[in-house]
Amino acid sequence: MKYPKLRELREAVISLVTPAYTSKFPAEEHVPFTDFRGKPVVDDTNCVGCETCANVCPPLAITFTDDKEKKIRTITRDYGKCIFCGQCQEHCITGKGVKLSDKIYDLAVFDRAKNVEYQYKELLVCESCGAVITTVEHLNYMHRKLGPKAFASILNLNVLNRKLKLAEGQELTAATGETPQRKDMFSVICPNCLRQVTVKYLFKGA
Ligand code: SF4
Ligand code: SF4
Repeated sequence: MKYPKLRELREAVISLVTPAYTSKFPAEEHVPFTDFRGKPVVDDTNCVGCETCANVCPPLAITFTDDKEKKIRTITRDYGKCIFCGQCQEHCITGKGVKLSDKIYDLAVFDRAKNVEYQYKELLVCESCGAVITTVEHLNYMHRKLGPKAFASILNLNVLNRKLKLAEGQELTAATGETPQRKDMFSVICPNCLRQVTVKYLFKGA
């Protein structure tokens, strides 16, 4: 028992003559160490609203809701739930949509709602069944990444034709909810509707 008491005495003397390890926050600004993982910061111009970060966020601090009527995706980031794991930054498809900062202490608030941020992105919706395909920015991002190869997909080609105003008057033939018709392959339809057209008209030759 003698030696542990001597060791504790030694540590007490050392701590008396060395400065405190803790910082004086909030009286003084805290300077974090290099590579400290603090609050994630979103760069909306480089975020395409793909929802990948929501899918990898362990505490579900990032969630999204899609309004098919208004064609708007709302991304909600609740930093009160964030554990600063960095998964959102690591898996961001653009590599620049979200990055962890060193500003964790800015999250000290009395009202937790102040730690919630929102983003709004335009949705691309299937003209036949109304299913959400993705966001417009996400598809544009893929076009930029793939270059001309993107247009091997008929969906991408149809979206490009709309953008270039080459598909005006190209209304959907089938009523909403019905199996799209062969001509509807040239409308903006989701992969599931496209599969139905392919099976019905191309493979079976109906
Ligand atoms: S750092 Fe981790 S917990 Fe925080 S938002 Fe990103 S993925 Fe979610
Ligand atoms: S993964 Fe990146 S681009 Fe996709 S929603 Fe998250 S921050 Fe935006």
